[in-house]
Amino acid sequence: MRRIVVQKFGGTSVATPEVRERVVHHIERALNEGAHPVVVVSAMGRRGDPYATDTLLTLVESIGGEADSRETDLLLACGEVISTVVLAQTLRSRGHAAKAFTGGQAGIVTTAQHGNARIIRVEPDAIKEVVEAGIIPIIAGFQGVDAGGEVTTLGRGGSDTSAAALAVGLNAALLEVYTDVDGVKTADPRLAPDAATLDHLTYREVVEMAHLGAKVIHPRAVEIAMLGRLPLHIRPTTSDAPGTLVCDPPASQGEGLEHWAEERPVTGIAHVAGQSLVQIDVPPDGSEDAPRQVFQALGEASVSADMIYVSPDRIAFIVEGNAAKRIERLLEKLGFTVRVRSGVAKVSAVGAGMHGVPGVMGRIAASLCKAGIPILQTTDSHANISCLVPGERMQEAVLALHREFELATDEEASTWRPDRMGPDRQ
Ligand code: ADP
Ligand code: MG
Repeated sequence: MRRIVVQKFGGTSVATPEVRERVVHHIERALNEGAHPVVVVSAMGRRGDPYATDTLLTLVESIGGEADSRETDLLLACGEVISTVVLAQTLRSRGHAAKAFTGGQAGIVTTAQHGNARIIRVEPDAIKEVVEAGIIPIIAGFQGVDAGGEVTTLGRGGSDTSAAALAVGLNAALLEVYTDVDGVKTADPRLAPDAATLDHLTYREVVEMAHLGAKVIHPRAVEIAMLGRLPLHIRPTTSDAPGTLVCDPPASQGEGLEHWAEERPVTGIAHVAGQSLVQIDVPPDGSEDAPRQVFQALGEASVSADMIYVSPDRIAFIVEGNAAKRIERLLEKLGFTVRVRSGVAKVSAVGAGMHGVPGVMGRIAASLCKAGIPILQTTDSHANISCLVPGERMQEAVLALHREFELATDEEASTWRPDRMGPDRQ
């Protein structure tokens, strides 16, 4: 069988006839290179566009009453299906054999959790068959079917995950994710217009950036690619710029990485807006049992907390903004005094090279303080330091850190580079 390349095109990449020309261009390039493309698409456009996921959602939401989660998935799944048919027809009009598939028809089997299902397995026989027949499959991302054949959707960023799972299931040589930016950048270009494109990153670095809010790729997709040792290429739809290549550095990376780490402890700045800080004063007589009560309540409510801080007299954490009221009521029912500060943002400096490098937190604190931005709380791991800041100061905080670590365009921003690798690299 020919070398398979899975190509995923996001919502803006399939939104208009002009940009779909670019999609055809990338598909034809893969064909010219001797690969067989397998294409995964998102719903066309963004909120407000007629077939975008958010627009479809408003169709039932505007009726009022509690929406049925099974039917919401049926409705949302239409967005991607429409894209597959439009793109298949576009390709046929150019003389290419193409065939549209729903996620279920492409063999994507998920859990039954409507709206947030997880892919359990891929049964790629139908896709393999059309590939062998020389037909280009165009597959609806973001969706699958559960064991009972019910249509499910995967949640935000789900098409990335569909593409990664299909690529691993089909034993593809490469996964290409096409989007509306030049690749993974040192920060969200919407906040930091001078952000540089990172030409090479390791899976771990991208997983970290994605988990901390860089929405250019879904973290689960990167994890699947990493487990399947599948090289991942994040590239722009509208140009032929080289994009970001994500893979593991070659075996001889040790020297190169250390060398780099000394120079560049921080690879990028990520952010998440719309969080709420929940703070609980623990009464002196209840300090032993309070953490158990609080986190058990969160677990039972299926709310995940982040930036968790626990001390004998105070417990604090952040939750997604829309979960805050529910959590506040729940904890007050348990007798706690709760303070909620809504509209806070998490801003993170990310870099595999910061581990063991002294002074990184010092630089973060100094640059935020100098800008007069209050730090409400911090957390850190071996490869990131996150600061909670008031939401209205988020962009300033991103820019301050981006500047402090000299990440803007023209700075050399790659994490590891082939020309810096050890001598035995091929
Ligand atoms: P798609 O519809 O193609 O999946 P998304 O909107 O999900 O596109 O992701 C692309 C967006 O991710 C960009 O428009 C950009 O604003 C945002 N983004 C956030 N952080 C980063 C980053 N570090 N690098 C590149 N883009 C980022
Ligand atoms: Mg996306």
